[in-house]
Amino acid sequence: MTLQEIDKNYVLQTYSRNYVNFVKGRNSVLYDADGKEYIDFGSGIAVCSVGHANPRLANAICDQASKLIHVSNLYLIEHQALLAKRLADLSGYDVATFFANSGAEANEGAIKMARKYGEVEGEVKRYKIITLEHSFHGRTITALKATGQESMHNYFGPFPDGFVYARDIRHVYDLIDDHTVAVMIELVQGEGGVQPMDKDEVRELASMLKREDILLVVDEVQTGIYRTGEVLASNLYEITPDIITLAKGLGGGVPIGAVMTTHKDILKIGEHGSTFGGNFLSTRAALEVLDILEEHKESGELDHMLLLFEKRLKHIASCNPAIFEKEVGVGFMRGLRVNEGYDAKDIIEAAFEEGVVVLKAGKNTVRFLPVLTITKEEMELGFERFERALSHL
Ligand SMILES: *Cc1c(COP(=O)(O)O)cnc(C)c1O
Repeated sequence: MTLQEIDKNYVLQTYSRNYVNFVKGRNSVLYDADGKEYIDFGSGIAVCSVGHANPRLANAICDQASKLIHVSNLYLIEHQALLAKRLADLSGYDVATFFANSGAEANEGAIKMARKYGEVEGEVKRYKIITLEHSFHGRTITALKATGQESMHNYFGPFPDGFVYARDIRHVYDLIDDHTVAVMIELVQGEGGVQPMDKDEVRELASMLKREDILLVVDEVQTGIYRTGEVLASNLYEITPDIITLAKGLGGGVPIGAVMTTHKDILKIGEHGSTFGGNFLSTRAALEVLDILEEHKESGELDHMLLLFEKRLKHIASCNPAIFEKEVGVGFMRGLRVNEGYDAKDIIEAAFEEGVVVLKAGKNTVRFLPVLTITKEEMELGFERFERALSHL
């Protein structure tokens, strides 16, 4: 049996897979088993924040694995404590953090916190959570119900009650009632098609919610950890959410999720937990990722590359008006909206042939989520190949 046959026979087929066999990488470069080289503009869906095979991250993981990987949350975990402090210091928010293993799981934690808040704060029990259409919050039953894409709810009900979907931020106001406890949003919708929210609208919503004692939950699973150029997109939007969730880029590829909240004693001992969450390995990796990215930001290199990347993408959009409607996004979370008559899938395949990895988002957007430590040379090479792919369409 070939590897592909083994995969098809033994792995549950829930993904539409490209059967390339990647075997190694270096920063933005990936190599397959045939030695073909690719520029990675996807970074494992915003996960490989410090690049592939980052030597500092690899060393931290090896060193930690040779000492302790896991002891359970029954004991003090040095790096977990330090990571929680680091997240508070870097974000500038007065928060405490719970550690989970994924984005969906972080959002489940956030929803539990909100539900507890609605139970104990105020006269009537509040449980309703408003989310946005086209949002994406994960694949577990509750995170899926929170996801404002009805087509993804097929087959899996009955779901937990109490989720309602707003068309956009302005529509949130119409849905609030006495039972509303939280509004949960992405500041830049990722899976939904790279859609940034309007800053003034978000800031206005945040202050209204504060006045009404309704929690603002910001799902930063994709936008968090410098993806938008700031530590958190919440920093960029200049808001102070009640709860922020993180995952994707935080561990640089090691699974970790986090729920940060200003309501530090909303959950009591025994009310939430995780076997793996925040163990030695993942928190040590995340600390190293934050060290690397903080230095990268402080040096000015991150902001410099963000601007170059944006400029190049805008240029490609304006030079190919037949194919692309416009360039969208923030920081290193960007996309090209594809015009009717062209299919993002064909563009992604053509790019892949030329040796550049890009992703799809929403209905028809080509998505770019480069590694945050991308070099100028890698970027130029990637865009050269992308342009060559467009010329073959
Ligand atoms: C990817 C993503 C999730 C789900 O994360 P998993 O780790 O796959 O569970 C949730 N919210 C947003 C905004 C995401 O981009």
